[in-house]
Amino acid sequence: MPKSKVTKPPVKADEKTAEPKKRSSKHPQLLRGMKDILPESQKYWNYVRKLVEQLAEDYTYEMIDTPILEETSLFTRSVGENTDIVEKEMFSFEDKSGTNVSMRPENTAGIVRAYIEHGMLDRPQPVRLFYWGPFFRYDRPQAGRYRQFHQFGFEAIGDNNPIIDAQLIVMCQSIYNTIGIPVVTQINSVGCKKCRKDYEQLFTDYLSSRKKFLCEDCKRRLVKNPLRVLDCKVKECKEILADAPHIVDHLDEECKEHFVKVLEYLDEADIAYQLNPFLVRGLDYYTRTTFEIWPEKDDGSQSALGGGGRYDDLTEMLGGRPTPACGFAGGVERLVISMREKEIVIPQPEPPDVFVAQLGESAKKKALRLVEDLRIKGIRAASNFSKEGLKYQLSVAARLRVKFSLILGQKEMLDKTILLRDMEGGSQEVIDYNKVYVELKNRLEKTKAIIQNRNNQIEE
Ligand code: AMP
Repeated sequence: MPKSKVTKPPVKADEKTAEPKKRSSKHPQLLRGMKDILPESQKYWNYVRKLVEQLAEDYTYEMIDTPILEETSLFTRSVGENTDIVEKEMFSFEDKSGTNVSMRPENTAGIVRAYIEHGMLDRPQPVRLFYWGPFFRYDRPQAGRYRQFHQFGFEAIGDNNPIIDAQLIVMCQSIYNTIGIPVVTQINSVGCKKCRKDYEQLFTDYLSSRKKFLCEDCKRRLVKNPLRVLDCKVKECKEILADAPHIVDHLDEECKEHFVKVLEYLDEADIAYQLNPFLVRGLDYYTRTTFEIWPEKDDGSQSALGGGGRYDDLTEMLGGRPTPACGFAGGVERLVISMREKEIVIPQPEPPDVFVAQLGESAKKKALRLVEDLRIKGIRAASNFSKEGLKYQLSVAARLRVKFSLILGQKEMLDKTILLRDMEGGSQEVIDYNKVYVELKNRLEKTKAIIQNRNNQIEE
């Protein structure tokens, strides 16, 4: 039988798949797992970023930027040698001086490095920091999973009080609530180093006696990093996990008390959470509280919107003095996908104050200067010099939703005047060119007052 030829449709690079279009040798294309954030998507990104910045300001978190490139050892010492991130997913290479460097796969390690390096221990504690930026993991791209993605995050370093954990969860939930995405916090405690070690032994014993039923990956995990088995999605492994001992049942007194307090604070703050005994999160540095923010109706797939927890030992692991800390990182791409799916309406930005249209070469030259002069004086003037026609320019002005346009043609150039057009009514008046700023400012203020009045009447 002849083989039928199956032609696959080209896969589009979009928010969901991050798959590049079919490769062609004609022009360079996106790398697999990377994506462009096009102007039409930027409104979502700007909106989220502004919310994060506002939240940070309200809770007195200060912005920090750390480099994208760090020494590889930073991540092997913190995230852990036997984690998927370090073992398989880092973009690592030797730089020209022979140093092993990696593009950051996450930010907590870099921030703690900065905390130690800049002596932040001497500042009032906890030091509250927040960030926004790109991260890199060489993972298999799929819906909501990319090789370059963006996270925002909050880190409170220097306080072991359980109210810090609870307040971080309150803050994070508030971002999703404000945007209109219903979420639920999944929460667990992985205890301290000691509880974890005891539990790991118990868990390993439990799994070892059932090893033959585990998938090949989990058999390997069992030797290298047994707790990673808890993340396995294979049905048979999940069935075995259903009866596995829970780490929360093996916490020492202090860790138990810490966890109970976190839950009490969350109850007090009316936060929707679910206890999730399998949430250990894959990184070595977590201690005590671990949590993830899931969309309310989660199918258990790759969809956590964010996650975090306590990392009381990390500063010490990186050579600093013991310093308790807690943090959270949220994925921006997954949040934007949810916003689009839920058709969340983004508040429109304010339109420019005025559009400057011109006809003819000398008017074009004068308009170039006028746009900049108005801008310097605080009037946001838009323009489009690419096409000559007035009709086209005014259609651009209408699309930009400006209230007024200024029109400079041959006649106005000779008369030293300019036309001021009311875009709503379509009326036009001739203005002395030298008074354009004063006249325009008056009109803008009047319009503002009318709108304010109208809004006040609606509120009454
Ligand atoms: P993690 O610390 O790995 O749990 O990451 C925190 C959040 O970042 C996740 O809940 C996702 O929203 C986002 N995230 C992590 N890895 C990726 C990725 N490869 N692509 C897109 N978003 C990611």
